Amino acid sequence: MTHLTNAELETRAGRVIPGGVNSPVRAFASVGGTPRYFASGRGPYVTDVEGREYVDLVGAWGPALLGHALPEVVSAVQEAVGRGLGFGASAPAEVELAELLVAKLPDVDKVRLVSTGTEATMTAIRIARGATDRPLIIKFAGHYHGHSDGLLAAAGSGLATLALPGSAGVTAETAAQTIVLPYNDVLALEQAFAEHGSQIAAVITEAAAANMGVVAPLPGFTASMLEIAHRHGALVITDEVLTGFRAGPTGYWGLERDQVPAEQRPDLFTFGKVVGGGLPLAAVAGRAELMDLLAPTGPVYQGGTLSGNPVAATAGLATLRAADDAAYSRLGAASDALAAEVSAALSAVGVAHRVQRAGTLFSVLFGDFPEAPRGYVEVQRQNTAQYGAFFHAMLDAGVSLPPSAYETWFVSAAHDAAALDRVVQALPEAARRAATV
Ligand SMILES: *Cc1c(COP(=O)(O)O)cnc(C)c1O
Repeated sequence: MTHLTNAELETRAGRVIPGGVNSPVRAFASVGGTPRYFASGRGPYVTDVEGREYVDLVGAWGPALLGHALPEVVSAVQEAVGRGLGFGASAPAEVELAELLVAKLPDVDKVRLVSTGTEATMTAIRIARGATDRPLIIKFAGHYHGHSDGLLAAAGSGLATLALPGSAGVTAETAAQTIVLPYNDVLALEQAFAEHGSQIAAVITEAAAANMGVVAPLPGFTASMLEIAHRHGALVITDEVLTGFRAGPTGYWGLERDQVPAEQRPDLFTFGKVVGGGLPLAAVAGRAELMDLLAPTGPVYQGGTLSGNPVAATAGLATLRAADDAAYSRLGAASDALAAEVSAALSAVGVAHRVQRAGTLFSVLFGDFPEAPRGYVEVQRQNTAQYGAFFHAMLDAGVSLPPSAYETWFVSAAHDAAALDRVVQALPEAARRAATV
């Protein structure tokens, strides 16, 4: 098929692409070694350019909810491609996808389709500022909301992996409009609102944090956050770009909603990853009166040449239609089984660790964590060198994990017994190697 090698591509990429990657999370900077260049994927497996197959636990960083190249998704996309790649005018697929999202999601009347999660959160914040006429935003340390200027402070994902406090190129004025608070800390929220309440437009939060490893909201935290923000006239933006349609059929909010008083609902939501089925598509969603603030009905401007692209919308539609109850129960069962097997293998050789869960999501923290970590300061105490040793042993054995200790392990509904067994076979040696660090 091809005579390329991973090492050759890494060298070539390094010459023409900064750091050799088009998104820093793909780099092997924190684990070392040569990144794999993937030529294809099918179900729970990916194959690199050298023809080596791996069980995939990266899942395209979230979109591959059902595994790779699901036949019904591929054929729907192929048909859409045959009709043209996009018209810059409205098309049926985007209407159908918006209808499906509104039908599936509680507390959502309208959606605006965009191309990336970054755009979705950026737009949600602009709506919140437009609605409240206030400048400040609260975010939580270790939460990742994409790479827009105002949201990079103390962010998770690639910034956590590379231990960056924020980004150069963001002005002090912009950074000053974001208040960063510790997650799961009601007192810190009360204090911030007591001090700046009349200036705060919104609190933005991941529905369950999953970009510093998984850290779920503590019982009662979401309800308190909503109550405090609303009491002060601020909005709440629940970022489900990662958790949406993955932590559960209606995201993490769908799992938590019944435990929150009915008068407390998030005002805006953001979705990405799964909703595009692997193509660039994301969404900002919420109550009609807030969403109608967007142009052309309202004064908050947002637009995009590729927004709601018919091929991307078709991929999202086909994926969400195939994501039935059976798929979610397979996903949940695969996550449960894998989390238990990893934990057992690490315990067997005395490697201290903690499995973190939020719905079907899980991640593994290496190190001694007698108490569940509540936020970023705690998860930063993990032993990333141990993770690096574990990661490479798994990769050698044909299992592709995220190249960072700060990421979720992305299981799919296609991870069947055979795929899971391959992972389980690889675990004892990987655990032994972690034990030597
Ligand atoms: C991935 C992610 C984003 C950013 O989405 P992009 O499509 O990468 O811009 C925003 N929020 C959360 C919670 C994410 O996980």
